[in-house]
Amino acid sequence: MCNENQLSQICRCGGEMTIHIHTLIYKAKVKIAGVPVFMCRSCFHYEPHPAVKRDLSLVIQELGSEPQRNSFSFAERNEWASVLNDTFTMFKDEEGDLEQVVQEAMGDRIDLLLDLFQIAAAAADPEWTGEIESRLLKLICHTASKVS
Ligand SMILES: [Zn+2]
Repeated sequence: MCNENQLSQICRCGGEMTIHIHTLIYKAKVKIAGVPVFMCRSCFHYEPHPAVKRDLSLVIQELGSEPQRNSFSFAERNEWASVLNDTFTMFKDEEGDLEQVVQEAMGDRIDLLLDLFQIAAAAADPEWTGEIESRLLKLICHTASKVS
């Protein structure tokens, strides 16, 4: 679960797959925006990033067979996708080190959540602290696996 933060992988065709932020269309009707995917540079095959597959399938289950809405921001549902979306929005320089930029953005987000956690704890709001804690754990998972 914790070793899924890689930013590239090898495709079945042998090509290099790199990470992209993609809008998926579900049931030809619902746009699910901001989904991290791996796309192959050779054959353009793409698939959801392993780290978001679980949350993505939950979203799809919720939408059901007769979706009532026509757009959805995946970043609202997945903390890591949210950080990646922000990073890709800012990341214009193709020559830069994307991995480093993502790691820095991740660190910033963790700092922000830690600050929020302090405020929630001071407010003695167990529901809020619980929510922030679960968001933090997902990110720390991604960051910690980087070191090992
Ligand atoms: Zn390929």
